[in-house]
Amino acid sequence: MNTNKQKQLDALKQQILDDKVCPDLAAGATQLVMGDGNPDANIVLIGEAPGKNEDLNGKPFVGAAGKFLDEMLASIGMKREDVYITNIVKYRPPNNRDPEDEEKQAFFPYLERQLKVIAPKLVITLGRHSGLAFLPRLRISHDHGQPKRLKNQVYLPLYHPAAALYNGSLRETLLDDFAKIPKILQMIIN
Ligand code: URA
Repeated sequence: MNTNKQKQLDALKQQILDDKVCPDLAAGATQLVMGDGNPDANIVLIGEAPGKNEDLNGKPFVGAAGKFLDEMLASIGMKREDVYITNIVKYRPPNNRDPEDEEKQAFFPYLERQLKVIAPKLVITLGRHSGLAFLPRLRISHDHGQPKRLKNQVYLPLYHPAAALYNGSLRETLLDDFAKIPKILQMIIN
């Protein structure tokens, strides 16, 4: 692992704490959930916000949605350690409500800095909240699984894995979209 990148991410985490970003969310959360995986990865996956399990564990996507995410990664021969996983909002919203616009906006500059440190080839957004943060014209039902290049960064908008837990057909859609990732990555790298 690139210790220099990890050091920069640790410093960024400390900066979020020092800047007291979203103090109300912070007060209701167990801890700040910064990210997990390999800071040298070619792929960064970005979800919405930590849920209960993530809040307790300090890592993103460790609950039911995370289990499905691990399965999807395995379906393309990847593990968590091969990618970096984070969220738009880094504290658990109370009762798992949707993050508010202000909260997403407050964390966005830090997310941008996080991405600058990692410098991935491909950013995969999971769900509408994450997708719209980068691709303002996103229509997820139309655009999912199609890579988009914007300001020299390639994004791949996908449905949120939690949505697939309640909708079997979305599960297949997500697995089909995931299957495209290796080719997309290869196209970017070559
Ligand atoms: N859902 C998310 O968007 N992020 C997590 O970390 C867990 C569930």
